[in-house]
Amino acid sequence: MENKIYPEDVKLEPVNVTLYKAENGILYHESKLDKARQDNCNVRKCSICLENDTEHKWRVCDDCMHKEQLAKYKAISKTTSDYPCIIGDQYFFDQGELEEYFEENDLNPSDAIIYGCKQRSYPFLDENYYEEYTNENGELPEKLQAIINDFNMKLKDVPMLWYEDSETKFIYEP
Ligand SMILES: [Zn+2]
Repeated sequence: MENKIYPEDVKLEPVNVTLYKAENGILYHESKLDKARQDNCNVRKCSICLENDTEHKWRVCDDCMHKEQLAKYKAISKTTSDYPCIIGDQYFFDQGELEEYFEENDLNPSDAIIYGCKQRSYPFLDENYYEEYTNENGELPEKLQAIINDFNMKLKDVPMLWYEDSETKFIYEP
């Protein structure tokens, strides 16, 4: 270490800055005025239409968000008509359920954003899960290994899990 600087030797020079105080008493440096405004406002204008107020100080309003989503959705080329499909976080396992939803929500099917679904199985229990518990030979106890094998065999009978496939557009065929 060439230049030793002890705490008492640290050079500190006074400068004048302007701080801005919000109504809640929090002080903001003059370079943080944007943050001060964002922190202390309770409503924002939509950054797309510049017209509507947004909810929860989000960037865009519901209308514009829906338009953005719809444009992105319409651009998807991969399609399916296989059930289940999903709208938001709701799954539909047949046409009847879907039509009921359209009716209840007064929704025109052509305006709906409906994705296809994919399936995945639950992950098998990997013996590495217990890698810190190997015996003196570096192996898992036989009994434990048997339980893991048994578990994995039984897991094959557990129905797979559905989830949204956001790359596949669901085509509703009445
Ligand atoms: Zn908007």
